[in-house]
Amino acid sequence: SKEEGGQQARFFKKRMEESFTEKMLLDHGLHEALQDNQFELYYQPKINSSTGKISGMEALIRWNHPKFGTISPATFIPLAEDLGLIVDIDRWCINQACKQLKFWQDKGYAKVPVAVNLSAKNFHQTDLIKTLTDILEKTGLEPQYLNLEITESIFIREIDHVIEKIKQIHRLGISISIDDFGIGYSSLNHLLNLPIQEIKLDQFFVRDINQNKRKEAIVKTIVLMAHELNLNVVAEGVETIEELDTLRQFQCNEFQGYFFSKPLTADKLIHYIKQHS
Ligand code: C2E
Ligand code: CA
Ligand code: CA
Ligand code: CA
Repeated sequence: SKEEGGQQARFFKKRMEESFTEKMLLDHGLHEALQDNQFELYYQPKINSSTGKISGMEALIRWNHPKFGTISPATFIPLAEDLGLIVDIDRWCINQACKQLKFWQDKGYAKVPVAVNLSAKNFHQTDLIKTLTDILEKTGLEPQYLNLEITESIFIREIDHVIEKIKQIHRLGISISIDDFGIGYSSLNHLLNLPIQEIKLDQFFVRDINQNKRKEAIVKTIVLMAHELNLNVVAEGVETIEELDTLRQFQCNEFQGYFFSKPLTADKLIHYIKQHS
């Protein structure tokens, strides 16, 4: 009816206004977040399959918003990409992670690398290499302790440009992992030509792998292929002992997931390191 139609229109207008306000607030807050020190890095341990010891860690950003509390990167990273703030945020993350790891190393802990996520947008701006060089120089962290995680989405445009950047990063001595491997745009050809050291199997392939013969077949084959190419294989999002057993049987090199540990604050991570080194 006409009345229903009117109600619907009002409903949608209200919803639009709400999401607009929310976006405005986030947007406004996001610009201030860097200056106001509202970001924090959490660290999730990576575990070596054969030793059971910590083999590295991934830095994951959190936004401690003064009004909304902790906001997940899944919410604000896409917004930061739209607003053109992601390059600054990623630079902050790389710097913070390098500074933190160097601090731990100087105290005698954590002779393992830290991995930082890099948005695809960073590959399409000019001074990524200078940023990385400056950060390593300023923090004094040796480059082999920094690892950058990139996703297959970087390969969808300006491909020659991206390849050149990856090679330059490699020349700096920084290692590169392909994150969320297997769910994005197929990049088997890039594995052939690029100096990449690691793939991270997406959680999608890990979840209930022990109950799914087809997932098993795919993962087993990916690991075999990766090892033929001298690539390290990390399984992400490992939550159960059954998943772990299957992945171990297929010879994944490293594991990450709630089964071992959630992402931890810097203070808590150091306790984890002391117990698992
Ligand atoms: P990602 O890089 O694939 O990170 C893995 C996500 O899975 C993290 O979510 C982590 O907390 C979560 N996770 C780890 N183990 C488990 C598990 O056993 N089970 C389940 N269900 N989840 C697990 P988080 O921290 O919310 O990050 C989400 C995404 O946001 C990341 O996905 C990454 O794409 C992006 N992100 C996080 N930090 C940064 C950053 O500093 N810079 C950029 N550019 N992106 C970031
Ligand atoms: Ca990642
Ligand atoms: Ca991932
Ligand atoms: Ca992901």
